[in-house]
Amino acid sequence: MLTGQELQERTNKMTAYEFHNKLQKVAESISKTHKVPVPEVYFNARLIGRTAAMYRWWGPTDNIQRSAIYMSLATYLEYGEESMTKHFLHELAHHLLIHLYGDRTHGDRFKKTCVALGGSMNAKLAGEKYKEAATHDFLPKRRRRTAR
Ligand SMILES: [Zn+2]
Repeated sequence: MLTGQELQERTNKMTAYEFHNKLQKVAESISKTHKVPVPEVYFNARLIGRTAAMYRWWGPTDNIQRSAIYMSLATYLEYGEESMTKHFLHELAHHLLIHLYGDRTHGDRFKKTCVALGGSMNAKLAGEKYKEAATHDFLPKRRRRTAR
């Protein structure tokens, strides 16, 4: 028989699994709407510190071979689904703009797209104009150990 803790661990795993599937479906749906390829979606246990999520692609922006959104498992566990979804949608905005326009910046077009998708930005990026979207949660920076 499972102990209470084992049961809880299985439940947490199932929740993360279902959440991952949900985001992969969101990526598929939005990519199809905009007629761009679907990115791969991953949880990554090695994304720590202030990187809650990241986007990367392979190949030149006019001939992208493959693309992926990586989400920090630590941020997900600390802040939960709502926060993680907003980080994810921020990365999905990058995915759309890089495929559609070769635009990898955080310019005004990015901000508009990010807000339209329901994504979040950090406060500095959002500025006054998009301050409602400034809801990024970040894990604190890891303290560097200094040699003595
Ligand atoms: Zn960004």
